[in-house]
Amino acid sequence: MPQAFAKHFNPHQTPQSEPIREDQVKNSAGGFVWSVDGWTRLDRFLILGTEGGTYYANEQKITRENAKSIVDLIKQDGERVVARVVEISHAGRAYKNDAALFVLALCFAEGDTATKSAAKDALPKVARIGTHLFTFLEYANSLRGWGRGLKSAVTEWYEKQTADRLALQITKYKERNGWSHRDVLRLAHPKTKDAEKNWLYRFAVGKVTDFSEAPAFIAACESVKTAKAKDAAEYVRQYNLPREVLPTEVLTDPLVWEALLEKMPMTAMIRNLATMTRIGTIKPMAKWTSEVVNRLVDKERLTKGRIHPIQLLAALITYASGQGARGTNTWTPVQSIADALDKAFYLSFDAVQPTGKRIMLAVDVSGSMGGGTICGVPGLTPRHGAAAMALTIANAETNYAIYGFGTRFDALNISPRMRLDTAMKNMNLPFQGTDCALPMLHALKEKMEIDAFIVLTDSETWAGHVHPKQALDQYRAKLGIPAKLVVVGMVSNGFTIADPNDRGMLDVVGMSTDVPTIVSDFIRE
Ligand code: CA
Repeated sequence: MPQAFAKHFNPHQTPQSEPIREDQVKNSAGGFVWSVDGWTRLDRFLILGTEGGTYYANEQKITRENAKSIVDLIKQDGERVVARVVEISHAGRAYKNDAALFVLALCFAEGDTATKSAAKDALPKVARIGTHLFTFLEYANSLRGWGRGLKSAVTEWYEKQTADRLALQITKYKERNGWSHRDVLRLAHPKTKDAEKNWLYRFAVGKVTDFSEAPAFIAACESVKTAKAKDAAEYVRQYNLPREVLPTEVLTDPLVWEALLEKMPMTAMIRNLATMTRIGTIKPMAKWTSEVVNRLVDKERLTKGRIHPIQLLAALITYASGQGARGTNTWTPVQSIADALDKAFYLSFDAVQPTGKRIMLAVDVSGSMGGGTICGVPGLTPRHGAAAMALTIANAETNYAIYGFGTRFDALNISPRMRLDTAMKNMNLPFQGTDCALPMLHALKEKMEIDAFIVLTDSETWAGHVHPKQALDQYRAKLGIPAKLVVVGMVSNGFTIADPNDRGMLDVVGMSTDVPTIVSDFIRE
């Protein structure tokens, strides 16, 4: 027997614990992968957030890592950072706006003059409601405190509000996290020649004693505080009062909810489905039930209301369970509402043209994908998010197969024809190690013809005897198919299995509403 040199060294087969090129980095699991560039990392932070941490890093550590990388980008091109924040926040690409507000605060704290000026213009576009403004100020305060640029940006935020918008801000979004309009107005001193706005400012800082000159909306907000349910419903109809200004006693009456529902914004409607079911406004075959269903599956309403798929997914899981998070409230879920939430989830992504290509969807179901959360949503682990994203792509395609892998490779029992809450339950799987090369190795072994591998993962791969890039190259060579590979990043870390030098590989950020369109364009071209 000759000595088995080839067993010890094969240039096409390197264990993942060793690098295949100098530009690789070690991931948290000890495997070698690539770093994503700062801009992709910024997108991951904006879209996936860091709330709830990850399997490998707690919330504090991963937030610090991201902030450091973002500060580097701000030094490099702060105006581009601001533009990206506006783009993602304004288009409703991210479920939570907090990360966008944090990055904007970082731009104020760390940016040059041009960056700060861009951030000032961006503030009203990103901080669209009072609550956003308070969150932004909380971040700004913890980073550097109140500079002159920040103060004038906040002053302008108020000055740009119309009287009607301002009235809504100071009543519906009165305070949050220890901040109130009263505190902010005392620091920002906005000026106005509009008598109504002037009255509203004085009202917000608690200087009004005479309500005879109050705008009708504010007068109604005051009167409704002592109203009985029937009158409260009338106030709601006549003055378009939001739920937030109503006394809790009247919120148990279906009449009040029916009045609210007439013009209720989508976010509020989705958030209150369980309450309205518990109270009886929504019940099987009721008039309001079909109206709510119609609104939920109305793509235009979803887009206009910036309704994110995560909001719909989280709402569906809670609603279908019939039990609130704290466990005290229960309701009997109405099937047509749960089904509509499921449909709305797919509609809330950008519309996509099917590619007709042969697609393997490979969901990383290893242990690390079951740790931490996406955007702090309870129960929404990267693994659950990955499954939901795989279903979104499958929903638009005809020629696909969905698999799960860790250190084993198996068919995954989920389908877009299965309601999402059921599919999510099927994702509670035992823990395994991670080998991101398995999708390609399996296709190679089975001689499956695949145009695109879509791997949904945190790129914390370590267990394989061959790198994913090597497995893909072998697959391409042996089957003669120039197969592409898309990495759908499900964690806001800095890793990817996509080779930056391979134009057939692409990084996208999981849970962004444009993923299906970006992926379909890349696969088709
Ligand atoms: Ca893993």
